[in-house]
Amino acid sequence: MNKVALITGATRGIGREIAIVLAENGYDIAINYRKENEDLINIKKEIENKKVKFLAVQGDVSNFEDCEKFTKEVIQVYGKIDVLINNAGITKDTLLVRMKKEDFKQVIDVNLIGTYNVTKNVINYMIKAHSGKIINISSIVGISGNAGQTNYAASKAGIIGFTKSLAKEVAPRNILVNAVAPGFIETSMTNVLKDEVKENILKQIPLNRIGTAKEVANVVKFLTSEDSLYITGQVINVDGGMLM
Ligand code: NAP
Repeated sequence: MNKVALITGATRGIGREIAIVLAENGYDIAINYRKENEDLINIKKEIENKKVKFLAVQGDVSNFEDCEKFTKEVIQVYGKIDVLINNAGITKDTLLVRMKKEDFKQVIDVNLIGTYNVTKNVINYMIKAHSGKIINISSIVGISGNAGQTNYAASKAGIIGFTKSLAKEVAPRNILVNAVAPGFIETSMTNVLKDEVKENILKQIPLNRIGTAKEVANVVKFLTSEDSLYITGQVINVDGGMLM
């Protein structure tokens, strides 16, 4: 029987690549989506080509009832969740002087409360199974801070605190909880940045290039594997040396 991974925000970007890499490693895949679109059709095809099962469940991570519903659906279909990847995330960048309360709240609601909403609905199954792995996608700006991202950096710092606290709570239940903190990765989230901003960021990356979603996915794969069974409560930066 294959292991089962639930990955949020996997219709595109880093989440999509995580779903593909885990499928290549024999996981049956469940992802959530907000609206049916081309991206969803593409990831479905991509995963099914890997000869593992694919399930798409509808729901917004910032809505607790949605998460309760789609988690139950995954359990009904697959009977278990071995690995949870909390990846769904958004940005709404602007300086605090211009940031509206809704822009602050929306980013916290999706990135941080979303991580709570899904984990809260999955954790009981993992506790019953006395096994599980949770990987939360944070960001190096949750550690360093970044002008124009008070909302996003707060949400990503919150994810780190959440990760470490939960890791301590559930270690006796044989559940590992870690965070991955990407630096600057090429996806639709970063494609929208102006060339000038991108060039400025590039200057701060010792490896002198933007990272790929696959490079993040490979670290997630390691954290889901049998090679990382003594690692919990950690934040692994995947950032080309940007934060060292
Ligand atoms: P992306 O390309 O914009 O993809 C974001 C994914 O999250 C999409 O699948 C999107 O689905 C989903 N999503 C957004 N809001 C959602 C919600 N409320 N409920 C359910 N799904 C939702 O972003 P990415 O660059 O791959 O980022 C993935 C994660 O990595 C995020 O947590 C991000 O903060 C983190 N990260 C990215 C970078 C980077 O440089 N790219 C760096 C550090 C950390 P829809 O299609 O429905 O919108």
